[in-house]
Amino acid sequence: MGVFSRHKTIHVDSDILIVGGGMAGCGATYESRYWDRDLKIVCVEKANIERSGAVAQGLYAINCYMGMQWDENQPEDHVRYARNDLMGLVREDLGYDIARHVDSTVHKFEEWGLPIMRDPATGRYQREGKWQIMIHGESYKPIVAEAARKAATKIYNRIMVTHLLMDANNANRVAGAVGFNVRTGDFYVFRAKAVIVCAGGASHIFKPRAVGEGMGRTWYAPWSSASAYALPILAGAKMMQMENRIVLTRFKDGYGPVGAYFLHLKTYTQNAYGEEYETRWFDKLRETIGSYVDHHPVPTCLRNHAFLEETKAGRGPIRMVTKEAFQDPHKETVGWENFLGMTIGQAVVWASQNIDPKHINPELTTSEPYVMGSHATCSGAWASGPSDYAPAEYQWGYNRMMTVDGLFGAGDTIGGTAHKFSSGSFTEGRIAAKAAVNYLLDLREQPQASEKECDALKKIVFQPMEHFAVYRNEIVAGTVSPSYLLPIHGLQRLEKIMDEYVGGIGANYTTNEPLLTRGLELLQMLKEDLAQIGAEDLHQLQRAWELEHRVLASEAVARHTLYRTETRWPGYYYRADHPKLDDTDWHCFTLSRYDRKTGGWDMEKAPVYHIVD
Ligand SMILES: Cc1cc2nc3c(=O)[nH]c(=O)nc-3n(C[C@H](O)[C@H](O)[C@H](O)COP(=O)(O)OP(=O)(O)OC[C@H]3O[C@@H](n4cnc5c(N)ncnc54)[C@H](O)[C@@H]3O)c2cc1C
Repeated sequence: MGVFSRHKTIHVDSDILIVGGGMAGCGATYESRYWDRDLKIVCVEKANIERSGAVAQGLYAINCYMGMQWDENQPEDHVRYARNDLMGLVREDLGYDIARHVDSTVHKFEEWGLPIMRDPATGRYQREGKWQIMIHGESYKPIVAEAARKAATKIYNRIMVTHLLMDANNANRVAGAVGFNVRTGDFYVFRAKAVIVCAGGASHIFKPRAVGEGMGRTWYAPWSSASAYALPILAGAKMMQMENRIVLTRFKDGYGPVGAYFLHLKTYTQNAYGEEYETRWFDKLRETIGSYVDHHPVPTCLRNHAFLEETKAGRGPIRMVTKEAFQDPHKETVGWENFLGMTIGQAVVWASQNIDPKHINPELTTSEPYVMGSHATCSGAWASGPSDYAPAEYQWGYNRMMTVDGLFGAGDTIGGTAHKFSSGSFTEGRIAAKAAVNYLLDLREQPQASEKECDALKKIVFQPMEHFAVYRNEIVAGTVSPSYLLPIHGLQRLEKIMDEYVGGIGANYTTNEPLLTRGLELLQMLKEDLAQIGAEDLHQLQRAWELEHRVLASEAVARHTLYRTETRWPGYYYRADHPKLDDTDWHCFTLSRYDRKTGGWDMEKAPVYHIVD
């Protein structure tokens, strides 16, 4: 008897299925209920929504708040800001749509019990920077999750979604999703009329700086395993800007965030000799990217570029000057609380390395690249825009619907909308949910999930356990078997390929056509070997499927990077064979579509419309 028959199959029917209960997923769940009391709303989460996603540990700031009630910023200002930071290329319609609604989301968070700091002088929210407000946010995620729990018909925790189901009568229409319970091994078939993918970003696709004893530590959440991209890619949805990976300047070894330090504590950076170094690199940069370097604020990638060049010139390490700010007891408290509320690991690293920022300026480093759609980057699915604001070419259906019928997305899943962060992701979940409810109201024919497809997927999903069961006796040494590879082996191989060929830390973020071509060949070989992956238990089965998703997303990254023959974001990555920014040919979005039958990819350009002056 194979392992397949040992796993119970459980069918769940819903109107709206939300995949991933992080910030966007909680927003989508909450809002679906707001628009229809009778809908069956199901949210599926591979962890437990109480503490899942990138906000699991808490946050110390909400990074996207306009402050329209006090006339602090207008939505158009945020579009200008994101556009500038992404070197001109953002979906302004989508960004505007989030910005005009995000304040109401934040007000809800406060109503639900999130403590937001107030400026004692003005009574307004305490600003960390122009867009950020400060919170006591250790319990941010449980507070948001409670709203989703109350709204959902049912939350299914501990279920990893592996595939979307397609309509038996329409190959370009979604009909639900399948996955397995990571604790019981039950196989779940979720049939749904509309699906909203909210499965977070992608870490661990490039080799991280933290290896050996620090393995597993990353800046973005280690459990962000690229499902947000792989699920729509497999369903044939168009993806955009997958080359637009992000590299973060962070405190060394703990990836501690720097936002509160720069913005609120007014700390600054200097090289090993106590010198300001950023501006010395900007003249040369002007030769390759033109006047973008003179924009204010300086785009995030360009500040990284100066950091990297200064380090290459041998004047590292780059340090954050904390000694001055930390003499002020208030700032010292804020500096530590900032970590305790969101990245405790950095405080522990400093303690273990005898770093007291009051007396020692801590080192910074640049991270390995990540793929995501909600931070200072905008990779993700190509989505239809709001009907009152999007240009005709960006509208083919309902707001936030991908190019697959009935398939919506929000947060890290959706491309083109950088700088939405936690509050913007929740807001985008709300926007997608409202549109999905409209989609349901207009729906004429119900999608049909075929039992045959579900049975076939069940076999595929548990195949790694079958492999392990059959071949475990062939182990030759330790965990090495000639007949399977384990998820950790596959992950390390993926990270090495991406690092060396697609522009990771080991290659100084640099790549070129021959490297990318070879990287794609090696990824293809890895994909072939994934058919032989072995999973010892359900935990390893989850790792196996996370790896599958990471590999597919990585392939998209490599293909997009190959397609865009320019260096648009120096500091995020460099195409050494095309070192210049090329606004003539590349002031456009890159789109891809994967054909699951042939394994081929179609690439195309899409225009960037500047809607805001
Ligand atoms: C270190 C760090 C610091 C940050 N700092 C700030 C900050 O200060 N302020 C701010 O506003 N924002 C900050 N952010 C950004 C913010 O956390 C993200 O923008 C936001 O969480 C993105 O929302 P999301 O719903 O797309 O993804 P997530 O919140 O990560 O949610 C994705 C969810 O999907 C689940 N999932 C994934 N795959 C599957 C699958 N296959 N099946 C089922 N479930 C799945 C995950 O478990 C997770 O719960 C920070 C993020 C990080 C990592």
